[in-house]
Amino acid sequence: MSAVTNPLAEARPHLEPEAALRLLERHWGRGGELSSLHGERDLNFRVECPGGERYVLKIHNPADPAEVVAMRSEAIAHIQRVDPLLPVAGPVLDRNGRDAVTVIAADGRPSVVQLFVLLPGRHPSREELTPEALAHFGAVAARIGRALRGFFHPAARYQIDWDLRHTASLAGKLDHLTADERELVLEVLERFSGLVAPRFEGLRAQVVHNDLSRTNLLVDDELRIVGITDFGDATHTALVCDLAIAVADILDGRPDSLDLAPHLVGGYRSVIPIEEDEAALLGDLVAARLATALALGSWMSRCSGAAAFPGALELLRLMSEAGYDAVAEHLRRAARPEGPPRLRPTSRSTPELLAARRQVLGPLELSYDEPLHLVRGEGSYLYDAAGRRYLDAYNNVPVLGHCHPVVAEAMAGQARRLVTNTRYLHESTVELAEALVASAPPGLDRVLFVNSGSEATDLAWRIAQHATGREGAVVTAFAYHGVTAAATELSPEEWPHGAAAPSRVALVEAPGPAALAPGEPPHAAHPDLPAAVAALRRGGTGLAALFVDPAFTSDGILGPAGAWLEKAAAVVAAEGGLLVADEVQAGYGRTGEGLWSIAASGVAPDLMTLGKPMGNGFPVAAVLGRAEHVDPFVAETGYFSTFGGNTLAAATALAVLGCVHSEGLVARARAVGAHLLRGLEDLAREHVGRIGAVRGFGLLVGVEIVAAGAGGALWPDPAAARAVVEGMRRRGVLVGRTGPAASVVKIRPPLVIGEAEADEVVEALGRALEDL
Ligand code: PMP
Repeated sequence: MSAVTNPLAEARPHLEPEAALRLLERHWGRGGELSSLHGERDLNFRVECPGGERYVLKIHNPADPAEVVAMRSEAIAHIQRVDPLLPVAGPVLDRNGRDAVTVIAADGRPSVVQLFVLLPGRHPSREELTPEALAHFGAVAARIGRALRGFFHPAARYQIDWDLRHTASLAGKLDHLTADERELVLEVLERFSGLVAPRFEGLRAQVVHNDLSRTNLLVDDELRIVGITDFGDATHTALVCDLAIAVADILDGRPDSLDLAPHLVGGYRSVIPIEEDEAALLGDLVAARLATALALGSWMSRCSGAAAFPGALELLRLMSEAGYDAVAEHLRRAARPEGPPRLRPTSRSTPELLAARRQVLGPLELSYDEPLHLVRGEGSYLYDAAGRRYLDAYNNVPVLGHCHPVVAEAMAGQARRLVTNTRYLHESTVELAEALVASAPPGLDRVLFVNSGSEATDLAWRIAQHATGREGAVVTAFAYHGVTAAATELSPEEWPHGAAAPSRVALVEAPGPAALAPGEPPHAAHPDLPAAVAALRRGGTGLAALFVDPAFTSDGILGPAGAWLEKAAAVVAAEGGLLVADEVQAGYGRTGEGLWSIAASGVAPDLMTLGKPMGNGFPVAAVLGRAEHVDPFVAETGYFSTFGGNTLAAATALAVLGCVHSEGLVARARAVGAHLLRGLEDLAREHVGRIGAVRGFGLLVGVEIVAAGAGGALWPDPAAARAVVEGMRRRGVLVGRTGPAASVVKIRPPLVIGEAEADEVVEALGRALEDL
């Protein structure tokens, strides 16, 4: 329905105070002192009753139809039911139980009349508003929106010029502005037509208050809102309009408005998450509100004598001077911050950040000669601060691609519901453990949750020691199993160059990189497994466990190595030790043969460690084992990890596992991996003498970079491998290096990459090789 006439154009109704008093007595049985109260288009009286009660008698503008007035009353009643603590006041019922009566005013026009309880408090001044008060105002604005979410009324379609959706139509109402003001407003209208109007209809919409200005808020001495008044502009429009209007009208002309706005937006966001489109349009909607206030204010002051809005002009000037794009970005970030509330007001440039990082993190390694300053990830791509896109062919943690929406949603949802530890019963922890057991090699029927691959290694070693009564472990010659003190003992990759193995650790040769012939592997040869086991026995520690990454990633990506693993499993079993499959790196479908890389060999491990991809970036890890080993360990040690497998970790890991299945990522890893391998093998034929070997399975692939040494023998060439990695980075493709000589280009993308992206990797590698 649209109003027959426009209430903004229609003069306020006219009624003498004596006539208003008679009305009050006749319909509500009340009397008292009447005084005039401001109203934009209605006639309002303040009523002081002899008993101390105070009311507002509102004679609505004749252009406001009764259905629209009823819609507002019902909206207030809805809010009172949904969020009774919001200080709104509905109309007082008259003697006949009606919430409104229609009267003929002195000028002969019919008007709807209502009586409201006068809410306590005073209007806040813009100068006194603190960040805390603004955050509170924002939260209250959001609560009004939330409370009205389920409200419907057919009259809410009522057209009102204050609805920001009509901003573009203000062009016809600019005659009373100065030339300066008109220019400002026209700029806003132009942006609105180009940027906002095409997206407006796609925004979340509902009935909103639509006028959350300081004059409609009442506060106590602590600046807490004790009254929300004037639902006279309530209409069905975009939800975010209430926030835009609050920003515009609460801060209006304060010189620091733009600095303070994020506090208001943050308060709003603490109640209602702001959607991407809403955040993107917020700045322009604030500008639209200010332009509307200027245009309609000047126009109404001509038509009906209402006051204009000086604060709006000041804030619009501020926004125009700062640049609308910059303000829009500022508010977008406040609405959807990339992280928690910032302790620093501004972001640093890349060189500034680099210098600051050195100050606090010291020499902690950064990838690439020119470090990457990343700000966003999506799917297989990462984006830097300058907006450049990189194909991520290196990170195996985001197995589903960066910032997967289903996982992000699961995390956020669980974070909002319950975050607590495994000492309480909770569905998702149990469901996750069940899913892992169901997927695991036979016999692994127990799960212990931890927070990192390193912890999983550490715990697996403790379980193996407990189960066997022995202390020692065997690892491959250049293994990596983690950063804890124990895991470092099991990680020769991390030991200082030339250091001897710790007394309880023996090294064993990994399955050799055969394609490296005729050059020799760069490290000293190590014994085979029986000899390593015998050495531990001689040393008195005995074999508790063999730890093996079935893809031999840090040894140079040497899998699949079924025969090696089978033989190893037999030796370990004969010795009474446990076989630990470290699936932290190669698990979760990466190798394209089931979820766990060891499964392809048919070998059943005694313990399995999981980590990195398990949370797609969220820290969660686990040890899977057999009840006969795990239960006595847990019973005796009272094992417990505060965060391990907590409700948030479990909900996240469940979502990851669910997506790996539902998106068919194991099969995809196999297919795209095979395509990648073929491309790399073709490349190797073009670069004989530079590519010594291409190895791997699924989406875990190594390219050995070599150079001809004396006599034409091919040697690993770490310097060239490094140059290739840097060259690919310059071309927008991220890879890394691995292997004992750091001569193997490690390609390990999220499993969601497609063949076109795999081709991009091959192409970048080829180009980088040509540059050598
Ligand atoms: N095991 C393997 C095979 C790994 O690759 C890693 C990490 N690169 C770990 C264990 C340790 O995991 P985290 O860094 O999560 O502690």
